[in-house]
Amino acid sequence: MTDKTRNWKPETTLVHAGTRRSQFGEMSEALFLTQGYLYETAESAEARFKGEDPGFIYSRYANPTVDMFEQRMCALEGAEDARATASGMAAVAAAILCSLKAGDHIVAARATFGSCRWIVETLAPRYGIESTLVDGRDMANWEEAVKPNTKLFFLESPANPTLEVVDVAAVAALANSVGARLVVDNVFATALQQKPLELGAHVVVYSATKHIDGQGRCLGGIVLSDEQWIKENLHDYFRHTGPSMSPFNAWTLLKGLETLSVRVAQQTRSAGKIADFLADHSAIDRIVYPGRADHPQADIIRKQMSGGSTLIALDVKGGKASAFAFQNALDIVLISNNLGDAKSLITHPATTTHKNLTDEARAELGIGPGTLRLSIGLENADDLIADLDQALRRA
Ligand SMILES: *Cc1c(COP(=O)(O)O)cnc(C)c1O
Repeated sequence: MTDKTRNWKPETTLVHAGTRRSQFGEMSEALFLTQGYLYETAESAEARFKGEDPGFIYSRYANPTVDMFEQRMCALEGAEDARATASGMAAVAAAILCSLKAGDHIVAARATFGSCRWIVETLAPRYGIESTLVDGRDMANWEEAVKPNTKLFFLESPANPTLEVVDVAAVAALANSVGARLVVDNVFATALQQKPLELGAHVVVYSATKHIDGQGRCLGGIVLSDEQWIKENLHDYFRHTGPSMSPFNAWTLLKGLETLSVRVAQQTRSAGKIADFLADHSAIDRIVYPGRADHPQADIIRKQMSGGSTLIALDVKGGKASAFAFQNALDIVLISNNLGDAKSLITHPATTTHKNLTDEARAELGIGPGTLRLSIGLENADDLIADLDQALRRA
């Protein structure tokens, strides 16, 4: 982040920050689809490997297009440094595992994306890293879970798919008080509606596959933190294990960032309108939407989010049969497990994204047989309401 970009508002940052132009002065960010780089002389190769010449070496280490994406994300997030990854899960895995060693302990909120939970609950313990999952809504649970060897806290807020929230500033304060780090998966809120680093978190991760691409084209992820944390924990890991983002995906995601602010604003406006419609519908048991005053944790949302999210969680009456009939009757809203897309998408977590959990674990999270997750796209909100209404009547 340069001094110039520091004062930009997010909309300007998303269009301009991080841009590096070649000698041709191209307007659109260039796609450097190359694995390697030429050294004019043997001496310059030596200098580059010694770190005395700042040029690129190999695209597993760094690439100009990927670098533009990382710099734009740093400017948006207010982070000193970042590493882009091939997928969101590569970012989460790196952020959780890179700073830990056998004997350390993680405390994580139970309500997270299924694969994130697998890393904490199943993978980390194989390497001697202990973990405790807590109901992240209550601070007392976080405090009780702390042990002398707790080194990392991990949470997602709002969480997938139930949209429950965690008090990020309170967990960050607890992490600081015990000398641990807090990693926040900020996919659902986006950098436009929640700033974990400003709330005290140490590391932020994204699946860029979601709102950042926003048009369902490619996978990507990113880890953002301070320069020292990235240098000490991620730098060598990325060079030597290779979870790097491809230049083509970085280029696509840079284009996605240009329109992120208008897409998220429009999708959030529509989601608010649709949430109000669904909340009053006789076929619906319950909806959870962070932008509504009846969200169970509306007080925390007011403190840490500036928008209501593009996602809605709902429970239809009649359990799985109704949830399936409703999905099958939709014309515009498509059945898919992506989110943040231009197309409105619906998914049934119990049989898809969260099918690997036991019934008890799902019940604990509030995922019932009638629970659906709705991601609002860029279609006209009234068309979406009409589609949801006709499908609910037919179900
Ligand atoms: C999708 C998602 C991920 C994983 O991202 P991929 O790009 O699919 O690997 C992680 N966390 C959350 C909250 C997500 O929604």
